[in-house]
Amino acid sequence: MSQNTLKKMHTELCDVVKYSLEINGATHNMNDLIGKKIKIEWKGKVICSCNKEMDTFYRSGFCYKCYWESPMASQSIFKPELCTAHLNIEDRDLEWEKKFQLAPHYVYLANSSGIKVGITRKSQGVVRWMDQGASQAILLAEVPNRRYSGDIEVSLKRFVDDVTNWRKMLSGEPQSVDLVKLKNELSKHIPEELKQYILVDNTVTEIRYPVNKYPSKIKSLKLEKNPVIEGELLGIKGQYLLLEDDRVFNVRSHEGYIADFFYSDIPKQNLLFQ
Ligand SMILES: [Zn+2]
Repeated sequence: MSQNTLKKMHTELCDVVKYSLEINGATHNMNDLIGKKIKIEWKGKVICSCNKEMDTFYRSGFCYKCYWESPMASQSIFKPELCTAHLNIEDRDLEWEKKFQLAPHYVYLANSSGIKVGITRKSQGVVRWMDQGASQAILLAEVPNRRYSGDIEVSLKRFVDDVTNWRKMLSGEPQSVDLVKLKNELSKHIPEELKQYILVDNTVTEIRYPVNKYPSKIKSLKLEKNPVIEGELLGIKGQYLLLEDDRVFNVRSHEGYIADFFYSDIPKQNLLFQ
């Protein structure tokens, strides 16, 4: 992917999550820009992961060809319970699917807007929680492939959500929940043959985000409708930039958009009266 497109922000788990945005050869420490004015200017073009440049994506951040043919856009990406590489069965590209699916995965519980169950590649772990804006998270199980994590997730969907309500997540901090107790209760409902993968480690990761002010009535911005987005940055949570006037911008959902990024100090108007 060309370097002048938007990509999701890098995150680092510190006392408060540290965000950085790489674009046009520069790395911006986003936490330092809170309280400053930022501007994102879309150039009217997007680039697919196959390098095809076009006016707009066909669907879900892919060109037509990739959406229908790439293993990165197959059904099992969204529904891990459909993964079949562990049975040597190809969906779109068995070699790619083996590499992607036959790797250790975690099943976790996270509290971002209420409790949800989710899965992630073991290498992603806490990055995934920060991307989703979770305030607390605990590992539930570690399985040898993506399919098993999907099977555990499905077995728990009856009791907890498997999606983040992003509007709720952006409206403030969720109530603290006893995740250890919840893990113990939910563990009973995991299919017998998968219980061996439940982790005994009950460490709860607490995550805090750099937010000065949460929006009250959220307006979500899309570059296709608002090609130039500017305003004071009030905070960052998940992959969302929180801007003045209750506006929010999801950086991750704009991956592949060719854009420029600027920032400036906000002029102190009261200085005029000194
Ligand atoms: Zn493509």
